[in-house]
Amino acid sequence: MAEKLIQRTFVMLKPDAVQRGIVGNIITRIENAGLKIVGMKQSWADSEFSKKHYSDHVQKPFYKGLEEFITSGPVIAMVVEGIMAVEIVRKMVGSTEPRKALPGTIRGDFAHHAYEYADKKGIAIKNLIHASDSEENAKKEISLWFKDDELHTYKTVHEMHVF
Ligand code: AMP
Repeated sequence: MAEKLIQRTFVMLKPDAVQRGIVGNIITRIENAGLKIVGMKQSWADSEFSKKHYSDHVQKPFYKGLEEFITSGPVIAMVVEGIMAVEIVRKMVGSTEPRKALPGTIRGDFAHHAYEYADKKGIAIKNLIHASDSEENAKKEISLWFKDDELHTYKTVHEMHVF
C-alpha cells in the first residue's frame, strides 16, 4: 500500500531559530517541499521536559549545555506529514554540525556553528532545528509533544497534483 509511505515526523524550531526571527523562513522551506503541517504550537520546555525529549542524551557530557539551550526560550513544535517525511525532513535539515551542513540545507544556509567551538565554551551546538531520526522516534516525540486532538487531518493541493 502506497499510503504506508506517508509518514509523520516531529520537527522543533529551537530557541535560536525563534530568537533570530527565521521561523517563517524555515517553515516556508517545509511548505515549499509540499509537506503538510498537521500540528504546530509555541512551547517553552522546562528541565523535566527536556530530559524526556533528550532521554538518550541525558548522560552525555554535552547534555548540561543542551538543556540550558533548549530551555532558554520558546520553541516551535511541529508535526509534518508527507511521503517518507522522516528522511525528507532530515535531508532538508542537514548535518547536526552547521559547519559541516551543506549549502541548501536549513543548517547550512542559516547557521555556521562548530562542535569544537561549542565544546570549548561548554554550550550546545546552535543548529536551529530538530527533526526525528526514525519513524519509531517520530512516534515517541509526537506523543510527547502533542495530544491527539492537537493533530489535524485535511487535504492540501499537493494531494491532487503529487499523490
Ligand atoms: P541529536 O539528537 O543528535 O540531534 O542531538 C541533540 C542535540 O544536541 C543536537 O542537535 C545539538 O544541538 C546538541 N549536540 C549534539 N552533540 C553535541 C556536542 N558534541 N556538543 C554540543 N552540542 C551537541
